Amino acid sequence: MLNIFNKKKTAENPAPVAPTASPTMPPVQTNFAEIALNSIHDGVIMINQNGVIQFINPAAVTMTDCKSPNNAIGLDYGLLLKIETKEGRELTPEENPLIRSIQSSQPLEGYDCALISGASAKRIPISITTIPLNNGSKIITFRNIEQELAEEGEQTEFISTASHEMRTPVATIDGYLALCLNPQTATVDERAKGYLESAKKASEHLGHLFQNLLDVTKLDDGRIRPQFVPAEMISLVKQIVSDHAAKAAEKKIAFSFGAKTAEPTDDHRLEQVVYASVDVNFMREIMDNLIDNAIKYTPAGGSVYINVMGDGDRVLINVTDTGIGISSEDLQHIFQKFYRADNSDTREIGGTGLGLYIVKQRAEAMGGRVWAESAFGEGTTFYVSLPRISAEEYNKRLIAVQNASMINNKGGNQ
Ligand code: ADP
Repeated sequence: MLNIFNKKKTAENPAPVAPTASPTMPPVQTNFAEIALNSIHDGVIMINQNGVIQFINPAAVTMTDCKSPNNAIGLDYGLLLKIETKEGRELTPEENPLIRSIQSSQPLEGYDCALISGASAKRIPISITTIPLNNGSKIITFRNIEQELAEEGEQTEFISTASHEMRTPVATIDGYLALCLNPQTATVDERAKGYLESAKKASEHLGHLFQNLLDVTKLDDGRIRPQFVPAEMISLVKQIVSDHAAKAAEKKIAFSFGAKTAEPTDDHRLEQVVYASVDVNFMREIMDNLIDNAIKYTPAGGSVYINVMGDGDRVLINVTDTGIGISSEDLQHIFQKFYRADNSDTREIGGTGLGLYIVKQRAEAMGGRVWAESAFGEGTTFYVSLPRISAEEYNKRLIAVQNASMINNKGGNQ
């Protein structure tokens, strides 16, 4: 067992020295590794193939509040590394990215969450990474991101206030431009009409941008938190999807719900009943953004298909289009804030580059994941996967929600 703590600097265990060039003495590399691991502010834990802690560095001891490495070594990592989402929601073992990564031996890269530390259950915001090794062991590292979040919080507050303040004058400008363009309220010549139409388009874009910025910051600064309710996902998504049918028809796009691929043949999938615990407003924002995009980036004559199905312990939603597609280079960046693919097709189509960021942010806040597959020039499929719950769990949560609302109503009536 590797325990680098409390080692006395004896003759057998000397203080670190620089590696020498002596052909008989190998360099004392391990001592440098010890110094580095003892000194860094990031927590480092090494577990064996059974999830048992073999090594823990001082930063990890402090962050987990286990007082001493001896209290941690030999323990199952799950007893020490209890995490919840950064929004403060408990994670089931099935949706917990740390457990999933350890069990599947897949690396986890910088998952932002909160560490529940020690007996006081203090919440420490961390970014956690796992690195699987060839022998089945794993290295878990975690970094305190409290300072980063505080700075981000200040930025978010500024963006939110600025967007809020600017939204009102933009709405006024937009209103006056609409009046100028309305023949019943103003007379303008043809040239001026062209200029005013351009100004109106720009003011609409600004209005949209400020609204998107406000939506992004609302979740970032904790002004909104997901309100989870149990839902039957096929009916919920179907209901949201139906609001977009008219827009698709207007653009002469075939639009349907119930097919996994662009072939609308397998309606029987909809006979499945799939449950999840979701925030209905978040679901609407996710679906509205994905479907708006699918319609926006698909030329007339194309198709958009949406489906929901159970996929093991997940609910899988896909929004598939036969539109302009996304290059593999752009595909890596499209979920970033303000990212817009820049090509001759997209330049013509307006947007803020915030829609997919909102989709990702909302999906992750519900314990979900979002990704896309695309063939440039042929079409794109966006996938949203969310933790699924059983029919039993659905009924249990439904009763809990109904009871809570009855109590609230009674309270309100008194
Ligand atoms: P935007 O407001 O620009 O649409 P998004 O964040 O919604 O912003 O999307 C980011 C970029 O991803 C878009 O600018 C576009 O290049 C690309 N994109 C998104 N959805 C699709 C789609 N269905 N087909 C092709 N490209 C898409």
